[in-house]
Amino acid sequence: MSKAPKLLIVGGGPVGIVSAVAAAQAGFAVELIEAANEIDTRPRASTTHPSTLEMIDRIGLFDRFVAEGLVAREFQFWDRETSTLVATFDHEILRNDTRFPFVVQTEQHKLARMGLDKLREYGVNVRFGVRAVACRQNTDRVLVDAETGEGPETLNADWVIAADGGRSAMRKSLGISFDGYTWPERFVVLTILDDMHAINGYAFRSYFAGTGEWANLFKVAGDDGKGRWRAVFPTAVEETDEEALSDSAAMARLNRLYPLERPYQIVHKNLYAVHQRVAETFRIGRVLLAGDSAHVNNPIGGLGLNFGIHDAMDAVGTLSAVALRGEDPAMLDHYSRRRRFLNVKFVQEQTVANKKRLEEKDTASRQASFDILRTTAADPARARAFLLRSSLIDSVREAAEVA
Ligand SMILES: Cc1cc2nc3c(=O)[nH]c(=O)nc-3n(C[C@H](O)[C@H](O)[C@H](O)COP(=O)(O)OP(=O)(O)OC[C@H]3O[C@@H](n4cnc5c(N)ncnc54)[C@H](O)[C@@H]3O)c2cc1C
Repeated sequence: MSKAPKLLIVGGGPVGIVSAVAAAQAGFAVELIEAANEIDTRPRASTTHPSTLEMIDRIGLFDRFVAEGLVAREFQFWDRETSTLVATFDHEILRNDTRFPFVVQTEQHKLARMGLDKLREYGVNVRFGVRAVACRQNTDRVLVDAETGEGPETLNADWVIAADGGRSAMRKSLGISFDGYTWPERFVVLTILDDMHAINGYAFRSYFAGTGEWANLFKVAGDDGKGRWRAVFPTAVEETDEEALSDSAAMARLNRLYPLERPYQIVHKNLYAVHQRVAETFRIGRVLLAGDSAHVNNPIGGLGLNFGIHDAMDAVGTLSAVALRGEDPAMLDHYSRRRRFLNVKFVQEQTVANKKRLEEKDTASRQASFDILRTTAADPARARAFLLRSSLIDSVREAAEVA
């Protein structure tokens, strides 16, 4: 029997780990390296759309993913100026389109941990504290130079999936440009213990448009399962990081969203720079980019990681066809064209539009956008079309069409 081809995954974030699980199941000899010494638990993605739940189910993680998260069937748009609910969208309308007509909010580090457990079960070589610094390749091998606790080491593989995040050393080493822009403001994420549904009926996923300051609000289970809320706000452009992360600014932001008579119970504060960038290609030779190494976007709409998981499944599917079943290597270029095209059309366009909708300062334009949301939510055919796009089901369906 011929030896299984070796697939090296660079990056132990959720995209790298999902890639590794899918690749081990497909029959590759998998090795995964992660620069840090443990999984990153800082608050980032949680919103997981129906199209992505189908993939999580395909790799056998769905039951645990739901058990450790929260099901959010509906999401809401609110007008901050008047504190009124503008529209509610219910994923149940997608019941004939997907087996999972709901969103699940599970923190991304939990997905990484449950994937890691699967990798241990499969005996996959997972190495923490190993940082890729450069990459070279010839027609049949890839060599990845890495720094380890024991000194430099060169790793050798048939194929590589580079899932090493937005600052990807692999992408840079391959000389792939990452065009786009960085927003002048940053986003501040405040994690609170106060129950915002009990306080004012907010859905587990709520978006707030306003002239002064937009906001997003989400409920997640937390590691203890007791539930906590994350509120996301833009900073002022001129605000320093220290100001944005100060207790007084955090408390003021939360009270502008909903004034409480007692202080909010803030348990975590974090600040992120936000970008819209896409790699010029998602593949060079034997290396495929997936996740944030290939594309980054603002988090409004919860699309970045979802699309990254779609990349992971697509990359492993494509490599399985070429490397395990001997199909046409031109499929590797299709991977790049398909993922890039779909990212621009479904992730970059939607996240920029989502941000514009929430921050619109002109009253007439904001009201016009609220009217569109109201009439869309009230019309079943339009609501379904809206949700097919926002939950990336359209992206999956269109994938088969991209030449
Ligand atoms: C506030 C916020 C909220 C978000 N909410 C959502 C959401 O609700 N839904 C959604 O879909 N997306 C969301 N996102 C986006 C999501 O967090 C990212 O898209 C996701 O983390 C990408 O996963 P990844 O595995 O590609 O990259 P990362 O999570 O960045 O993981 C990359 C990994 O590679 C490792 N690494 C880096 N360099 C090297 C190297 N040279 N060698 C080895 N290892 C290396 C890193 O240590 C890291 O562990 C949000 C982002 C933010 C900031």
